[in-house]
Amino acid sequence: MPVGSSEEETALSCVIRFIGGDALNTFSLSDLPLALGAFDLKGRSVGLVIVDEINGFATPGCGPLAPAGPDGCVERMISQTDRLARLFEKEGRPILLFLDSHEPGKLEPPYPPHCERGSGHEMLVPALAWLEKSDRARLVQKDCINGFIGAIDAETGRNAVIEWINDCRLAAVLVVGICTDICVMDFVLTLLSARNHGLIPSLADVVVYEPGCATYDLPRPTVDALGLPATATHPRELTHHMGLYLMASRGAILASTVLQF
Ligand SMILES: [Zn+2]
Repeated sequence: MPVGSSEEETALSCVIRFIGGDALNTFSLSDLPLALGAFDLKGRSVGLVIVDEINGFATPGCGPLAPAGPDGCVERMISQTDRLARLFEKEGRPILLFLDSHEPGKLEPPYPPHCERGSGHEMLVPALAWLEKSDRARLVQKDCINGFIGAIDAETGRNAVIEWINDCRLAAVLVVGICTDICVMDFVLTLLSARNHGLIPSLADVVVYEPGCATYDLPRPTVDALGLPATATHPRELTHHMGLYLMASRGAILASTVLQF
């Protein structure tokens, strides 16, 4: 039967109706339990990874993927990240920052144009701009969701994340940033696979610091009002939770506090 035939379309639409129907509404967040603990930096070689805390994602009004107005969740993420980064800087620990950064006019489907080079939207948020001058910080521009993939030099095949962790002989990385269920999650899941594949011998733990993460809120009524497809719906509490759950279920450690912090 050819792809897209009426019989296949009927089967697909049945699946969509089921997923979008009442069956899914019987689940609650407690069905996906999270266990968050304290992560102790003391005596360990730990690097901080800051994912995409840039204007285009975290400064109100800076493009289509930034908050429309003041956003308490994003502000919490930035303040927690700033405190962590200053601690890491003070203790001489390494920091790697991902900056989503696109060549103007080159799209990243399914998203609208964002964080184009030269727009300023690809720059760190003002509260973290001091890291651009830090000797401890390594800035990595990326043009895709997954920072691990974006860190691969297309010509040489060298991976800036692997080199950073190996150069610093890190036993653990502590990850913060935006969005919990998108760029943070894709990076963490891929890093776990790279670790398990033996690409990063020193790395034991991949830790996600929940107070330093945030995602965006796009409720169904807003999606409908904007004329977007229903799949653009992105309720913040649920997607933040699901991102944390999926990372933990694949082997990441979730932290709600960082000791010595
Ligand atoms: Zn992007």
